[in-house]
Amino acid sequence: MHHCHARGCIAPIQMLDLMCETHWHKVPSRIRMLIAASYRAGQDGTAAGRPSEIWQLASQAAIAYVGLLDAHYASRAGIRTLIELGYEQNVIAAWGQRGPEYRKSCERVVAEIKKEIETDAHKTQ
Ligand SMILES: [Zn+2]
Repeated sequence: MHHCHARGCIAPIQMLDLMCETHWHKVPSRIRMLIAASYRAGQDGTAAGRPSEIWQLASQAAIAYVGLLDAHYASRAGIRTLIELGYEQNVIAAWGQRGPEYRKSCERVVAEIKKEIETDAHKTQ
């Protein structure tokens, strides 16, 4: 057993789960599917090694998203993955629910991250 990975949540969960039921159901369905599909059996144990890169990115995005919903910290990397997966409007809605000031800073950060994504896309071409 370990704890739900949502910030501030101490619900005990099974090793193969990322979050408790309550938090897991707040995660957008496509991200839930990515996490489930890229899970490697035993990745949390000693034998099977490290989680796949997709699992790590998707999990980071899921944790960031519930962090925004619960008014906790959300990592910039997680927010970036959410935007890359098409959840920009969800990010703005979840973050902006805290009030107009938050909405403003949210829109600024989202715009910054979108610029970063564009710049990185040009670099790899
Ligand atoms: Zn939880």
